[in-house]
Amino acid sequence: MQSIYDYTFEELTSYITSIGDKPFRATQIFEWLYRKRVRSFEEMTNLKESLIEHLKANFSLELLKINDIHESSDGTKKYLFELDDHNIIETVLMRHSYGNSVCVSSEVGCSMGCSFCASTLLGIKRKLSLAEMVLQVLMVILDLDKEDSKLTNIVVMGIGEPFDNYDNLLRFLKVVNYPKGLEIGARHITVSTCGIVPKIKEFALFPLQINLALSLHAPTNELRNKLMKINQRYPLEEVIDALKYYYEKTNRRITFEYILIDNVNDSKEDAYNLIKLIRGMNAYVNLIPYNEVENKPYKTVSHDKAEEFFLILNKAGINTTLRIKHGDDINAACGQLRIKKIGTNNE
Ligand code: SAH
Repeated sequence: MQSIYDYTFEELTSYITSIGDKPFRATQIFEWLYRKRVRSFEEMTNLKESLIEHLKANFSLELLKINDIHESSDGTKKYLFELDDHNIIETVLMRHSYGNSVCVSSEVGCSMGCSFCASTLLGIKRKLSLAEMVLQVLMVILDLDKEDSKLTNIVVMGIGEPFDNYDNLLRFLKVVNYPKGLEIGARHITVSTCGIVPKIKEFALFPLQINLALSLHAPTNELRNKLMKINQRYPLEEVIDALKYYYEKTNRRITFEYILIDNVNDSKEDAYNLIKLIRGMNAYVNLIPYNEVENKPYKTVSHDKAEEFFLILNKAGINTTLRIKHGDDINAACGQLRIKKIGTNNE
């Protein structure tokens, strides 16, 4: 049976009219699903009995199955969800001073092949459906409801490359942003990409002003080619041009994510090259100490080098933060818990 969460508002409206009902019914259903968050169609008391019966016969309200939950000492909560086909995905709730954010996965595994990342160890199995993405958010919200807390931010930075699942990504953004539903403001949503240039340009024209983050991780093509396969297809000059275009169209400041890996991309020279690359852009750099991954040769940056790197950028007037790791004790970096659970050789 099809999940009711697999519909955007527009899609549900056209479905409802196709069965001869009034379009406003779709608004009511969205309110029940995402505002009141009911768990059965019977609870949708302002719908006619015949529509309730129709929905019951044709749609499921099923949530995601929880395989495991790990909670870290800093309140970070990592969920492993088991999908209908038994694939496992990860979702993370992070608590910040400004609110609660959820990190959403977009695919089962990833095909981008970044050399340092745990998500690529098993390659890609498939893309996630709209319902599978929306339900990650809803599951976390239902949990937050119990403690009377709200979800304020969404980052699409979990497993997978969101621009590799582009259509469902856009549908997902529409659902979570829908004003009579979850109503997460576009400015509170960030999508992270490894740098798929044509999609960055397409996304610049998407009507919602979503924040865009680029996983940069290296300031030169020479180094980035080694760390990130995608750079061989879309080199830095093209990525930077596309980001400038994104900024021009949306007026949203770009975030550069830069993981610091010991003796790989953490030298003073790397910092100077990084300044050269992004100077003049209205950008923001998020430095993240690398989270070590089993079976990967990379080590995390030393505290001193991270500070030094940060100070060089800071002094050059680049808006920079050195991110404190969330959920370090529960392997909260991209794809790590999933790999731990399913192992690296179960293909
Ligand atoms: N595919 C998208 C989004 C998913 S990855 C992208 O590349 O942006 C989310 C972020 O975590 C990316 O910046 C990724 O490079 C980074 N990351 C992957 N493995 C990591 C690790 N072991 N430690 C720290 N960050 C990691």
